[in-house]
Parts: sequence; C-alpha cells; structure tokens
Amino acid sequence: MAFDSLTEKLQNVFKNLRSKGRLTEADVQEALKEIKRALLAADVNFKVVKDFIKTVQERAVGQDVMNGLNPGQMVIKIVNEELCNLMGSETTEIKLQPGSAITVIMMAGLQGAGKTTTTAKLAGKFKLKGKKPLLVACDVYRPAAIKQLQINGEKQGVEVFTMGDNHKPANIAKAAIEHAQKNGNNLVILDTAGRLHIDEDMMAELEEIKNTVTVHQTILVIDAMTGQDAVNVAKEFDEKIGVDGVIVTKLDGDTRGGAALSVKAVTGKPILYVGMGEKLSDLEQFYPDRMANRILGMGDVLSLIEKAEAELDIDEDKAKEMSKKMKKAQFDFDDYLESIKQMKKLGGLGNIMNMLPGLGGMGMGKMKGLGDEQMDEAEKGMARMEAMIHSMTPAERRDPDLLNPSRKHRIAKGAGVDISEVNRMIKQFNEAKKMMKTFAKPGKKGKFKLPF
Ligand code: GDP
Repeated sequence: MAFDSLTEKLQNVFKNLRSKGRLTEADVQEALKEIKRALLAADVNFKVVKDFIKTVQERAVGQDVMNGLNPGQMVIKIVNEELCNLMGSETTEIKLQPGSAITVIMMAGLQGAGKTTTTAKLAGKFKLKGKKPLLVACDVYRPAAIKQLQINGEKQGVEVFTMGDNHKPANIAKAAIEHAQKNGNNLVILDTAGRLHIDEDMMAELEEIKNTVTVHQTILVIDAMTGQDAVNVAKEFDEKIGVDGVIVTKLDGDTRGGAALSVKAVTGKPILYVGMGEKLSDLEQFYPDRMANRILGMGDVLSLIEKAEAELDIDEDKAKEMSKKMKKAQFDFDDYLESIKQMKKLGGLGNIMNMLPGLGGMGMGKMKGLGDEQMDEAEKGMARMEAMIHSMTPAERRDPDLLNPSRKHRIAKGAGVDISEVNRMIKQFNEAKKMMKTFAKPGKKGKFKLPF
C-alpha cells in the first residue's frame, strides 16, 4: 500500500515525541525536521512540504494543549489536521446535473494513467447509485482502447458508444449525447485519448470536445506511481483545459504516495476518488481525513466514529450517561448489556477491532494477532454474555451483589450455559468495575502549554 514507508517514518518521529515527558523547543524542531525529511522522501512537492512544516510550526507555537493530550500528542494532532487540510479537508462529490438532465463527464489524462479502466470503474459506481451511464470511446488512435472500453463496459453492465476510429472525437461526443437523449442515459462519460507526454494535439482535441458539446465535469486521471510528474501534469492540464477534479490511480502499489499529498495544494483541485487496484471494483471515494489517519498509522478511527454517529444512530445521551457512570464506576449489568448492543450496532467486535488504530493495520486489512477463529469465539462469548444478562431479573442487573448461588443456577439454566460461565462473567464484570475506579481517580487537570 502506498505511504507505507512514510507511515513508518512518521510513526518513529511520533514514538520519539511520545517517549518524552516534556517537550523542549529543540525536540519539536527535531521532530519537524524529521517530518520534513519523511515527506520529501515520499515525493511530496518541495514547496508543499515547506509550507506544511511552516503551518504546523506556527500552530504548535503557543498552542494550548487540550485536556487529555500530552504535548507530543498535541503535535501529532496538529500534523494530522494539517495533512487533512493539505488533501482538501472535505470529500468532494462529482457534481451531477439536477433531476433527469444528462451530465457529461470528460475523462482526461496521459496514456497509461488508468483512464479507460477508471472510466469503467466510475460507471459502475454511478450505476449502483441508480444512474444510467453511457461510456463513449473517444480514443480513436488506439483501437485497443476502444476494445478495452467495450470489454470493461460489458463487465459493468454499462452500454458503450463507439463510432470506430474514423471520426473526430468531438463529433463522436456529440453523437453520443444525441444517442443518450434518445436512449434515456443520464450520464455520459467520455473516454478521451491520452499521449505519453503532454502535447498540443492532445490539448487541442480536448478543447475541441469542450467547444463542441457541454462538458459539465472534466476529470483528470493521474498515476500515483509517477509521483511529482503526475502533479506537474495535473497543473498543466488544469491551466490548459480546466479540470474540476482529479482521480489518483495505483495507490495500491508501493508508490510513495507524494502525488496524492501534493496535487490539491499545487492545483487547487480536489481528489475525488482513488484507484486501489486493477479490478473494476477497486475505486474508492476519497476522504482526506481518513487518508490522513491512514498515513499517520492511526487506523480508520474516523470511519468508526462516523459509523457510530451517523449511520447507526447511536444515542448520544446514552453514550454520555454511560461514560459518566463509568467514570463514577457505577456500572451495572444493564449498562453491560447496553454496551454489547452498541457494539453490535457497530458491526461486531471484528469490525471494531479492524478500525481501531494499531489493530487493523490500515483499517482495511485483517486484524493482526487474532485469527478468525478466535474472533468467532469472542463474538460467541459476547452472545452468551447477553443471554446471561437477559436471564437476570431487573433487580439483579442493577445490584449484582444479589447474585447468590441459587440465583446464579437459575441464570445459567435460563441462558443455557454452565454455572462456571456465570461465575466467570461476574468476576470479569467486577474486575472491569475495579479498573474503572482506577481510571476514574482524578488526574491532573487544566491546560498545558507547549514549551515554546
Ligand atoms: P489509459 O491508457 O489511461 O486508458 O490506462 P488504462 O486504463 O489502460 O490502464 C493502464 C494500466 O493500469 C492497466 O493495466 C490497468 O489495469 C492499470 N490500472 C489502472 N488503474 C489502476 C489502479 O488503481 N491500480 C492498479 N494497480 N492498476 C491500475
């Protein structure tokens, strides 16, 4: 995966920062120097790196350290936020025309960047969203490109419009839009010809398409493997024909990733999607914040939070109440049950572990350390726990001290488990409570300042 080496270097910098109780100005300067080196080694544009370090430094100076963070963590937080800003801070969607009006997207890019593949990938995404795309073969110089688009279109179940290699691309685009109007296609994606290098003919051809038909979105496809060159290409394309958004391909390879980090800062144009493999499903929407987390090796924490808050509608009040109870160590079996429920809403233990920093690698892979079987076992254990709590009376749930041997027998029977399992759960529960009491002890409060 791209960024592996950058992540490793940044993690070393942060490990050093964290290992220090107090940070001196020299510590922070040294860390910034290391971060700068790591970004340059990842092939991030030199000016972008310079500005980035300057911003982090400015923000770090005199910054109040938030409650609960030490100065080292505060620096990490700032780096994380600035990486996210660098990549555009917010997710950008491809703008579609309202209602049933046809949206015309023109794909541009150098030969080999992944344009034809990405065109088909994109069509698949929009098809899933209920659009009826029409792919248009405007690359008339390489018959293989027309064939490739046809094959990929077929795989995606999307219609492909071709007129062979004997017509001007602008005329093909015009005919394709007329076809779309008759045929009920509401999204037309033009796959244009690339060249090995930027040249006048290619630009003129793209311009001619734009002058002949209404192109609503021009999307540039760049190859992450080509690093700085990709960013320069993006700049030129944008200056000559105007680009609305960028798709960075081949981020699955062992590219250093600098193009993805620099392109927004250099061109001002957002990354819309990233290509993560050769398969037609390997296209991911681009989330700058998640990417920043991944680069810092912090796992896909954001996905977890977002899942918790938005999609799954976890009751905020309940969560607050629970955390209050935990702090006071007034946690009972009802709360235990509630936390199991919330965990299930988040997709189960495996899913959560996968998204937590340090456990799930990049938030996408399999959890390190625990295999599928152990995971299964843990999930089953949770289900049995739930059954046992359900077999308790409300009074028992609130006051576990009531659980004498005969009550425990009744619970074991009700849940279909052995009494030893009931005992084990009560023991675990009491231990968890004890641990919460330790955490709940008042620690140092108030704000810390970074030491410069
Ligand atoms: P075009 O000349 O710009 O149309 O490029 P193609 O679509 O033909 O892609 C060139 C090569 O890159 C093909 O072998 C694709 O399979 C490959 N490719 C495209 N996108 C990705 C990607 O995201 N990851 C990987 N690993 N390969 C990709």
